[in-house]
Amino acid sequence: MTLTEKILARAAGKTSVQAGDNIWVNADVLMTHDVCGPGTIGVFKREFGQAAKVWDKKKIVIIPDHYIFTADSKSNRNVDILRDFSREQGIEYFYDVIDDSNGHWHFDAAKGNMKRQYGSRYAGVCHTALPAKGHTRPGEILFGTDSHTCMAGAFNQFATGIGNTDAGFVMGTGKLLIKVPETMHFRLEGKLQPGVMAKDIILHCIGEIGFDGATYRAMQFDGEGALNLSIDDRMTIANMAIEAGGKNAMFEFDSRTAEYVDARVKLNGTKSTYEPVARDKSEKFVYELVVDLSKLEPTVACHPDPGQRKKAKEMNQPLDRAYVGSCTGGKTSDFVEFAHILRGKKVVIDTFGVPATPDIVNDLQSTYWGNSTIWQILVDAGVQMTENAGCAACLGGPVDTFGRINKSGINCISATNRNFPGRMGDKESKVFLASPMTVAASALTGKVTDPREYLGN
Ligand code: SF4
Repeated sequence: MTLTEKILARAAGKTSVQAGDNIWVNADVLMTHDVCGPGTIGVFKREFGQAAKVWDKKKIVIIPDHYIFTADSKSNRNVDILRDFSREQGIEYFYDVIDDSNGHWHFDAAKGNMKRQYGSRYAGVCHTALPAKGHTRPGEILFGTDSHTCMAGAFNQFATGIGNTDAGFVMGTGKLLIKVPETMHFRLEGKLQPGVMAKDIILHCIGEIGFDGATYRAMQFDGEGALNLSIDDRMTIANMAIEAGGKNAMFEFDSRTAEYVDARVKLNGTKSTYEPVARDKSEKFVYELVVDLSKLEPTVACHPDPGQRKKAKEMNQPLDRAYVGSCTGGKTSDFVEFAHILRGKKVVIDTFGVPATPDIVNDLQSTYWGNSTIWQILVDAGVQMTENAGCAACLGGPVDTFGRINKSGINCISATNRNFPGRMGDKESKVFLASPMTVAASALTGKVTDPREYLGN
């Protein structure tokens, strides 16, 4: 069996499964957020009754992150619905925006959207927060009401996005009927060259197979090249499996995985036991690709989908704005590489920075390079940095969302993960997906630029 099949077989109580089997699996964690949470709760109450209790209050994680820093009253109310439900059900892992468990969330537009407006429990973007808060464990099953739930495949976990109806069912029963996906094999060899990032790896792979090339399939990334990658890099790659239609992503378990997971579960006091799965010789794949990481170059996915691959050095695309943020491109390591390119220089187009979580804001504001923090270096370079960590303009959002494209015909280069028309706001605008380093170099020139031009400068 492949790694994905092994986890699914175990979760179904079977000795083996194969692609195409329909099986009932037990969930280990169900995650939902402010966009899909209210709908999921509605389905749960409708199907199981107004007085029903969730199947396991310790296995449900609720993370408001999407439409948070907006004066839109319906969006604010969604957070209140999550709070009421968490209190009613005794759900411990609700990462509220405010500290008052009986209060109401209200974004204060008068304070602006740069200074933080959240309490001590707020966790930021769900997929980045889940592992940081100790909710991702090797060998487990994670369902989330969000397509980029596949990011947790970085941790040798079966993690996939599901709809509100399925999530309402999981909320009540802890089970879900799953068709075992076929597995595609991406064997990574070698090491990335300077100026090339994990984002380039996944944009390369999606460019090979197209934005629907992995539809309802597992994407397994392994080999020496994968083991050389940091956990953040693996998360970036796993996150974008869905951009090729993938059901889930999967990485092998190694000492880096153990070190990361063990530290986070200890820090947060979450469940500390887990059982990873390892490869065996009988695994069968429907597709194989060997990627020599040392040959990859800075890559861009052009409008209108993540499969439109081009090399940055071959493009002459003028740009109006640049954006770094999201679960994919808003981690501390992403901002560090972004800042390496921008340090001591000035951007020439509107450039927005949105850390994925409050902890990342703190990292950037407390790490000094010389006399300046990384945060200050970015501000000095002209980047508009918000402390209000969250999804922000990655998916557009209400019209007052920080960084949202509200004008028509804008060309934006972005470290996010999805570029379908209208994704970041205006439907006539174009989004070009790239690594944080490529976004930085492009922000300095106003056109798509290979970051290797700035290495060592
Ligand atoms: S940052 Fe973007 S991709 Fe990630 S969860 Fe939020 S909206 Fe989705």
